[in-house]
Parts: sequence; structure tokens; C-alpha cells
Amino acid sequence: MDVPHYTPEDAPVPEGEIVIERACTAQDLGPKLNRTAADVVHFLLQAGEMLTATHSLSDDMIELFAEDIGAKIRLVDPGEEQEVELQKLLEIDESDNSDAPSRPPVVTVMGHVDHGKTLLLDRIRNANVVDGEAGGITQHIGAYQVERDGRLLTFIDTPGHEAFTAMRARGADSTDIVILMVAADDGVMPQTIEAINHAKAAEVPILVAVNKIDRDNADPEKAIAGVAEHGLVPEAWGGDTIFQEISALKNRGIDELLDHLLLLAEVEDLRGDPGGRATGVVLESNLDIGRGPVATVLVQRGTLKVGDPMVAGAAWGRVRALLDDHGENVLEAGPSMPVQVLGLSDVAGAGHDFVVAATEKVASRVASTREHWQRQSSLGREAHALSGGARLEDIFTQIQRGEAATLNMVVKADVNGSLEAVTESLRKLEREEVKIRFVHRGVGGITENDIALAAASNATILGFNVRPDRKARELAELEKVEVRSYEIIYKLLEDIEAAMVGMLAPEFEEVVTGEAEVREIFRIPRVGSVAGCFVQNGVITRGSAVRFLREGTIIWKGEISSLKRFSDDVREVAAGYECGIGLSNFQDLKQGDIIETFDNRQIERTLDS
Ligand code: GDP
Repeated sequence: MDVPHYTPEDAPVPEGEIVIERACTAQDLGPKLNRTAADVVHFLLQAGEMLTATHSLSDDMIELFAEDIGAKIRLVDPGEEQEVELQKLLEIDESDNSDAPSRPPVVTVMGHVDHGKTLLLDRIRNANVVDGEAGGITQHIGAYQVERDGRLLTFIDTPGHEAFTAMRARGADSTDIVILMVAADDGVMPQTIEAINHAKAAEVPILVAVNKIDRDNADPEKAIAGVAEHGLVPEAWGGDTIFQEISALKNRGIDELLDHLLLLAEVEDLRGDPGGRATGVVLESNLDIGRGPVATVLVQRGTLKVGDPMVAGAAWGRVRALLDDHGENVLEAGPSMPVQVLGLSDVAGAGHDFVVAATEKVASRVASTREHWQRQSSLGREAHALSGGARLEDIFTQIQRGEAATLNMVVKADVNGSLEAVTESLRKLEREEVKIRFVHRGVGGITENDIALAAASNATILGFNVRPDRKARELAELEKVEVRSYEIIYKLLEDIEAAMVGMLAPEFEEVVTGEAEVREIFRIPRVGSVAGCFVQNGVITRGSAVRFLREGTIIWKGEISSLKRFSDDVREVAAGYECGIGLSNFQDLKQGDIIETFDNRQIERTLDS
């Protein structure tokens, strides 16, 4: 056993702020402050804490000891310092890349369902396999590369804007160019508009592919005109958007489309430094029974090599093997190359970044810190630098600072007429110092997609006669997205105006207390309709205020007049039970409608926090 050795009381402590990891032991703490472990143990004993030198210390104890000897300390989570170091790697300024070699463009295909995204991705892949390796087994790993005229292109193999925006909501920008697919027979559809807005919000160049031109009822001109209405104007009409007519089915126009992509990539001057430690983003991840956690990552900078210690989200490990999109083992992957990574400790969610760490130990520490944070809260989200623009609550602070403020908004309404009315009136509120940017406008209930888009673009969601569904509400809470629903235009405008002058009134938030789905409808003479319901969430209470929602749109508001379990009148019914809900003056019930009960609670607001 060591003989205790105490430091003289007046021994100098280190100058400046000393970083101390939380939950360290007396053995760790003492030497950092020019003291011995025995000094710490002895001090704590006097303070009434009987601990050995290898016991982990609480924040209070550490602070108490530091104060006693007059040392200045800063407590950090274990691994936090290394995390900061790794974050710096991720945040290297891309703009200073002018000496780096060019890298392949990363392309995502978006558009309305059934407009041919999947078929196009299949065609491109099969017709342009690298090395001309015909009949090679292609593996779906979430992205692939093809070669054309000796140059490579990377395609993200999960089409659609959901995945794209979910990634952006996590702070990952994976895509350089978006192909917007519009079927020539169908023209612009709701998801076409969504896709345009999601791509615009990400400030990614868009190339339009007008598909299905082989169809008899194809009307490419009309489809093009429809797209042009949303600000993507073809060159022939004086705009600067490239349109390519194609048939994914008959393999027409696809080579031209690829040529346009290569040209656009050249204009964008995409570069990536293959030197140094690799960083990038996780595209897909799953647990394979034989191989353990498997992640497909897209390398964005540096070169990822077999044997590298890495962190991906809260997973970590040493790269055991790298597989390309043909399932072939490769030793390394450079910028814009997608590879499957084997050897991680866990499944890392899509959209998380990955970084190669200096050592395996650093990787494991950072991963455990992140896991700790994740468990604590959704922390870290706010840390992501989001594209310019502010939320409603912050707008006044920004104006006061003399910054030109932009209010980012996603507006959803029940019908086109009200959507137009809301946006028109909002436009009129614009002033020199406050601009309003509509990230997306659409008809229908507030969905998870809207929340993801708002989170990714720092926007507030305004709903007019529409509400978020349960999933959207949960995501909004997680992502800290502000959702405001209104039923009167004038009230909506009043609030926005108030926010601009820093007078945003305390909000009466409607807290949803119960949610039931209509399963059956009974019409009872002289009583009216009774809805046979299943309570999905919370508690339904007689006499509470209710709202009927059909696909997210409010169709009726009022009060519950009767509540029954079988034939008995009851005061409340909890989740998991069936009940009969009677409404005195509402008859237009349909199966699948959602009945929401709610309370009004006032939310305190602080404007300059
Ligand atoms: P996605 O939902 O956008 O991925 O669309 P799919 O790729 O699944 O295509 C939807 C349907 O349209 C499928 O039946 C395809 O065969 C068909 N399709 C796709 N491209 C074309 C095309 O160029 N011409 C015709 N006639 N049909 C097409």
C-alpha cells in the first residue's frame, strides 16, 4: 500500500482554467491540480465523505475540493474534449478546397410517387456499371457509383425527399444535385412541389427529368410549364434550369441526362481532399445476423481505410472490412464513394456523421459521450449550424441586433383558397427589416415530413385549419419545431405581427389530452350519431372540448355530449378501451376520423432568452 503523502497547504495550484472530467476519481483529480490522491481523500473525509482514491466523485465534491485549494476548473463530460476536437474536423471549411482534386457529384432522385424514380435508378445502374462488369452481382447498399466517359457519378439509391430531409434535419448535407422526376402524363403533383421546396431549402441545384415520354397521353410541354410555375424555368424560356425528356422504360434520354449531370458537376466545381482523416455521413445502417452492425457511409472528405478507428453517431469501432456497391472488398474509399463498413459497435442512424478518430480509445470515448447526451435529451441538435433564418420566437431579437431578419415558414392549410389567403396576407407583413421566406406551402394536415423540413431549415410551422398528427407532434417535440395552428386568419396575422415587435403574447397552447379513432358509426333516432371509438392515447373525458380531424384537417369543433362504455354512462375512458362518443349536433362522421380532446394551457414565453 502507498504511504499517504500530503502536499504542503501552500503548494501552488496550476494557473488558468483546468478541464476536469466528470465522475473522475481522487487519483485522476489530485495530480491535475498539483495535489495527491491522498490530499483529495483527506479533504473529503473532513467534509464528511468517506471514499477511497478510486471512487468516482460527484460534481459537488470535485468543485468543493477545487474551491478549497483555489483552483479554477471547468467540468466536462468524459470524451467531451475529444468530441470538440472531432467536431472541428467535421467543420473544416469546404470553401478552401480549391487545390483539392475534383470529386464525383452525389445525386438524389426526387419526385411524386410512381413518376419513375426507382426505374430510372435501376436503369442508370445497370447500363453504366463501373469496369463494364456485365452481370456482376449488384448489392443494394443505399448508394452506387457509375462511370461515364471515364468519370464517376454517385447516386443515392433511396429516392424521395423524406430520406433527404431526414438527413438534413440531422445536419447532414449529402447531396450535390437533385434530379426532379416529373411524369409527362401526370404533370406536377403534390409531392413534386414538396420535392422542389425541399431541394430549394437545401440550396441544391435541380435538374428536371420529364419521364414517360413514350406514353401516348404524354404531354411534356404541359409538365414543363407546370414545373416552371414553381420557379424552375427552362433555358429555352429564358430561365436557367436544365430539362431532359426521358423514358426510363424505353431507355431514352438517359445518357443525355447523365451528360447534363456531369456538366452541372463541372459548373459546381465539386472538390474533395482525399488526404487526411475521413469524414462523411451514414446513409443506411442495419444489423446483419452474420456480420453484425453494417453501415453504408458516404465519404465526403479524406480517405477511409480498413483498420481506421471511427465514430459514427454513437457507434464506434475499428473498420474491419469495407465493401463497395458490388459487395467486393476494398481497402479504402475516397471522397463521394459509398461503402459498407463492418466493425462498428452498433447500428448508427442514417444522417449521422462519421469521423475517423486518432485512436480507438478516442473513438470509444466520444461514442460513449454521445450516447450519454442522446440519453439525456436530444441535445446537440441546436448545435447544428442551420441555414439562415429565424423562428418566430427569435425574430425580434434578431431585428434588435440590427440584423436583416428572415422568418422561415412552412404553411399548411385545409384548402387551396385559404392557403393563398394566408400567404398573401403574410406577404403584406413583410418589411425592410423582416423578410418572410416560405420554405414550403401545401394543402393537408401537418405531417412528419413538414416537421423534418422545418427542423432542417429552422422554420416555424403555421397550420390553418389543420393540425399535426400524433407522429408529427412527437417529432416536433423531439426536434423542437414550433407548430402553431389557427382557425382565424386575423388571429394568425396578429401573432406574427406581434412577434415582429417582440410582443408575442403568451400562447394558449392546446394540450391534447386524448385521442380516439372512429371505428363504427351508429345513427340513433332523436339522439343523433354516436361514434364507436377506440381510445388510442390519453383519456377522453365527458364535457371536454373536442375537435374532429379527417386526414389532419379540422372538420368540426364542439363538445362531447355523451360518453358511454357499453350502455353505461361514464365520466372518462382511458387509452386502450372502446367507447361510444355522442355529439349532439354533428352528423357527418366517417370511419377513420380522429377525435381529439384538448385543454387550453398558457405557455410562458421569454423573448430574449
Ligand atoms: P417511383 O414511385 O417514382 O419510384 O416509380 P417507379 O419507378 O416505381 O415507376 C412507377 C411505374 O411507372 C412503374 O410501373 C414503372 O414501370 C412505370 N414507368 C416508369 N418509368 C416509365 C416510363 O418511362 N414509361 C412508362 N411507360 N412507364 C414508366
